[in-house]
Amino acid sequence: MENFDVIVVGGGPAGLSAAISAVRAGMKTVVIERGDYPGTKNVMGGILYTNATNMIVPEFWKEAPLERPIIEQRFAMLSGDQAFMAGFRDPAWEAEPYNAHSVLRVPFDRWLAQQTEKAGAMIITETLVEDLLYKDDQVIGVRTGRAQGDLEAKVVILAEGVNNFLAVKAKLANPLKTETVAVTVKEIIALPKETIEDRFCLEKGQGATIELYGDATAGMMGVGFIYTNRESISLGVGALLEPLIRQHWTPNDLIENLKSKPYVKRLLQGGETKEYLAHLIPEGGYNYVPKLYRQGVMVVGDTAMLLNSLHREGSNLAMISGKIAGEVAAESIQKGDTSEKAMAVYDTRLRDSFVLKDLYHYRHMGKFFENNPHILTVYPQVLSQAARMYLTADGTPKKQRQKEIMKMVFENRSKIGLIRDIKNAWRALL
Ligand SMILES: Cc1cc2nc3c(=O)[nH]c(=O)nc-3n(C[C@H](O)[C@H](O)[C@H](O)COP(=O)(O)OP(=O)(O)OC[C@H]3O[C@@H](n4cnc5c(N)ncnc54)[C@H](O)[C@@H]3O)c2cc1C
Repeated sequence: MENFDVIVVGGGPAGLSAAISAVRAGMKTVVIERGDYPGTKNVMGGILYTNATNMIVPEFWKEAPLERPIIEQRFAMLSGDQAFMAGFRDPAWEAEPYNAHSVLRVPFDRWLAQQTEKAGAMIITETLVEDLLYKDDQVIGVRTGRAQGDLEAKVVILAEGVNNFLAVKAKLANPLKTETVAVTVKEIIALPKETIEDRFCLEKGQGATIELYGDATAGMMGVGFIYTNRESISLGVGALLEPLIRQHWTPNDLIENLKSKPYVKRLLQGGETKEYLAHLIPEGGYNYVPKLYRQGVMVVGDTAMLLNSLHREGSNLAMISGKIAGEVAAESIQKGDTSEKAMAVYDTRLRDSFVLKDLYHYRHMGKFFENNPHILTVYPQVLSQAARMYLTADGTPKKQRQKEIMKMVFENRSKIGLIRDIKNAWRALL
């Protein structure tokens, strides 16, 4: 039986960040990953945020395999064949300090794993952790699927991603529910780089994102996305599992529906699908964050439901939670105390960081959309109709048009309903 200071289960952004921070603090650290190498099992849109990544590998942009710096974020509300759009462009995001880059997870995770090994941690691949080992109530290691595969450690960090089997076994988390998890399908569609730049109005090397709502998910709670890579586009769409099952839609129906929309179709024209991927996203929010620690163990990243779906931030919450857990593991081992009280410092620091502050801030959002499903059906339609009426130059005097628009709005949503929606949205979002 080999002994470590810290064992990290899972080689995604949370696990690798935890390992880097533990090993930098002098801990003998191992990451155990079930895939052939870190990244093989992982899916992301994916937009990688500079601020968090820079805390794990300073100036990572100089050598990491990144696709394009994101200089524009667009939002499109789809209704039938129509699209109502808004967005923000800042060419300053193309230079240091970048805001975000598009990435492909396979090369990026592999690179981050190399940085983890360079820092001094060991990575064992093709190995499934099946359970935790206990002495009394204290976690003292892991049981892997290999012969003589028990490994001991003073602290175990669970970074197994959304499928939280070990966290459930350890009685930290509850099994996933269909209303707290979204299923997302993604295609990587190859296109020449010049075509991408033309279609998205970008200069050479620049990148853009588009988030798609309304009919993008057939009104189900979820979102579609298009992100530009160097020579491909990441197209994806996800919806909560519960409405998907209720409406008898398969994940493939979701992406085919999105691809059929004229606004999307044009951007993909002539592209060739190179990869097709599907993955779950934990979307329970603050109210479903599990217990984050107990004697000798901490839970990080997607396993801990640390995902801000409104801002499509997950990788950064994963990295920061991993970093804090790695630091707390090292400090508690150095003090010779890995009790529940020592691990609780992780919870306190996470609450002091943007990670739990943001999730707490949006804690009512899930219920808001659940209780007001019309938000994703009625409003996209009303917005599109209003835009068409207002922007069509057919000789109708504008004052008369404004009156017609108000009439159309109130035919679709009563005054009281409208006021109630604004009040509830205000409460949930601000
Ligand atoms: C389609 C999609 C789009 C997304 N888009 C974005 C985006 O644009 N920006 C963003 O910031 N976030 C995005 N996210 C969220 C982001 O991908 C996650 O929040 C992030 O990957 C979580 O990292 P993690 O390390 O916790 O989990 P993961 O990345 O899932 O890593 C978990 C790792 O643990 C391994 N593992 C699991 N169980 C075991 C076991 N028992 N033994 C050994 N190894 C195990 C897995 O193989 C995997 O490598 C997206 C997610 C999806 C699915």
